[in-house]
Amino acid sequence: MIVPSLSEQDVALLREDTPATDQLIHFNNAGTGLAPLPVLKAVKGHLDLEANLGGYEAAAAAKLELETFYTSLAALIGGRPQEIAYVENATRAWDMAFYGIDFREGDRIVTGRAEYVSNYVAFLQVKKRKGIEIDIVEDDEDGQIDLQALKAAIGPKTRLIALTHIPTFSGLINPAEEVGEIARAAKVLYLLDACQSVGQIPLNVNDIGCQMLSGTGRKYLRGPRGTGFLYVSDAVLDQLDPPFVDLQATNWIDEHTYELVPHAQRFETWERYVAGQVGLGVAVTYAIGFGMERIGNRVCSLGAQLRSELSRLQGVQLQDKGKRKGGIVTFSIDGETPAQVKARLSQDGINVSVSSASSARIDLPLRGLDSVVRASLHAFNTEAEIERFVKALGNYQE
Ligand SMILES: *Cc1c(COP(=O)(O)O)cnc(C)c1O
Repeated sequence: MIVPSLSEQDVALLREDTPATDQLIHFNNAGTGLAPLPVLKAVKGHLDLEANLGGYEAAAAAKLELETFYTSLAALIGGRPQEIAYVENATRAWDMAFYGIDFREGDRIVTGRAEYVSNYVAFLQVKKRKGIEIDIVEDDEDGQIDLQALKAAIGPKTRLIALTHIPTFSGLINPAEEVGEIARAAKVLYLLDACQSVGQIPLNVNDIGCQMLSGTGRKYLRGPRGTGFLYVSDAVLDQLDPPFVDLQATNWIDEHTYELVPHAQRFETWERYVAGQVGLGVAVTYAIGFGMERIGNRVCSLGAQLRSELSRLQGVQLQDKGKRKGGIVTFSIDGETPAQVKARLSQDGINVSVSSASSARIDLPLRGLDSVVRASLHAFNTEAEIERFVKALGNYQE
């Protein structure tokens, strides 16, 4: 099978659009991706428009760009434009779906060890408020969610399967499609946190079978900070009651009555970072232009290359697990804390991040880890940068 990847020309173009690649090695795309020039131009352009025309007038002038936000996201992840909501970040997007479920005492949520910190604390809050139960499915021997155990964990009281596709603290890609088949068979709601996967690998809600999916603008999509989105399938719209409503989400009928607007816009708020919405739309179009399959293949192969290089360094322990792995590479080094590694690399003009147990209570501590170094690669990164990175790390060893 031919695996399409980006050509050398494509990579050169990606780097031209990302001027900072001249100055630094950015391996922190799971934190924030570097926005490409067309995104910057769109955001700055809209801010200028607001200053020159007035904010309402600028929004009216950007009508087409704002509509493009919905159509391009639908093209990126499947689903229809009306099933997409613009939300201020992925956390709130996820919350709008999760807190929209009418949980009753004794209801159960099934989740995995990769679950994002903010999602898990939301489970705990609803557990405290309503008396729901949380079932954590163990990983299988490859380190991904154990599908047999997942099947076994679903019972008559299970209301929701909540899965994080790619955790923030590991290279793992969870088998979202297989989980979807199980959710479908069990007729249970399925909410996918695709924060790290959207823009990193191809995604399709129809293949995955999730009815709800949340994503952020700032990471692998390379959009503006303070932007996110929520997909909610029309098929489950009536099973969710938005936890907050405003004039965007509703029509106010009279003193006693309001109605929710049709489709996913009921999860939005009226006031928003309009320049961010325009910018995120451009970021999505930009990714589609290069092709998500090509981007995904390059990101995964760069990740694999970095892992293979690191595995040859003495004193370095790779910490990624999973049958399928992406562009996030986690590791630790003997005799040096992850924070020290990050600080040292930063002096060499290399950006990485540290993932800590405080954000991974149901995973890292169980593996005896307090924190790990996280190097997260994107398609604009190069083999040459990986060589320089490994050399910079190796310096320590001598
Ligand atoms: C970063 C991240 C989030 C939160 O995204 P925001 O846009 O910052 O709210 C949620 N889930 C995962 C897995 C993440 O990595």
